[in-house]
Amino acid sequence: MERSIIKIILIPFLSLLIGIVESNDDVNNFGLIVHGGAGSFSGLDENTLNSYKSGIDQALAAGYEVLEQGGSSLDAVTSAVIILEDLPLFNAGKGSVYTEIETQEMDSSIMDGKSGKGGAVAGVSKVKNPIALARKVMEETEHVMLIGKGAEKFAKKVGVELVDPSYFYSEKNLNRVRKSKKDRKLGTVGAAALDQYGNLAAATSTGGRTNKMTGRVGDSPILGAGTWAQNELCAVSGTGHGEYFMRLLTAADVCKLMEYSSLSLEESANSVVNKLTESGAEGGIISIDSHGNISAVFNTKAMARGYKTKEISKTIKIYKDN
Ligand code: ASP
Repeated sequence: MERSIIKIILIPFLSLLIGIVESNDDVNNFGLIVHGGAGSFSGLDENTLNSYKSGIDQALAAGYEVLEQGGSSLDAVTSAVIILEDLPLFNAGKGSVYTEIETQEMDSSIMDGKSGKGGAVAGVSKVKNPIALARKVMEETEHVMLIGKGAEKFAKKVGVELVDPSYFYSEKNLNRVRKSKKDRKLGTVGAAALDQYGNLAAATSTGGRTNKMTGRVGDSPILGAGTWAQNELCAVSGTGHGEYFMRLLTAADVCKLMEYSSLSLEESANSVVNKLTESGAEGGIISIDSHGNISAVFNTKAMARGYKTKEISKTIKIYKDN
């Protein structure tokens, strides 16, 4: 009798211990996908294409290292996007395009799949890394989005770096808006990640569309449109004609289709991009689900992208196959 009581008490206790040891050995799948804009990428020389790939590679390496060392998906997407914002080639941060009145107005957002919280900034012109400020909005205010001067005032308060607008000056981008109102610079950036603890996060940053009206805000800082993360489902960042992403709630749609229709990540992403195509919009989305499955779908000729997970080796591509 006494023995059986000891068994009843000890066995669950021991198996709990064994369980703990097993889960320590079995680190969950984790990984990251980043993008650097969707479009035709035509007429680019080999050097420029390689620079796009190298930028994606650097961002991927930085984000992946965070995950590998046990960091959070939020930190991974933040560091990946900061690298792309600092490279003049991409249309975000330093490389942001000009508006119709030759100003630069940047938009950015980040979302935490664990808490469901998000942060965003729009129409900022002096913030070196808009994604860093979006994260502060999420973590240090009770709001989701701050715009323009108010956002910059908040940046000063929380110590997010402000720069003189001349930091963003680019002759190439100015010529783009002056010469050809239709020459759209590609290169909105974004990232979606799953960490070892099963938490998903996504982030997007852009200078918007060349020659946009001053004051225009696109999808990139809108949770659900350009960025979405929801634990147990997926994390998504989009790039393309933002007005359509806003109307179709593109980023959230990927996860919501999975939630309501039990579609796989790939099926949901395809279905969402089909909706963009049917509406006449060009663009693409990157996503990762809670198991570490990766998806990159676009209806343009190309989308600069890179991904790596614990189970999928590093891949960097611009066109469909290379
Ligand atoms: N989605 C961005 C916007 O509409 C632009 C882009 O991704 O190319 O502002």
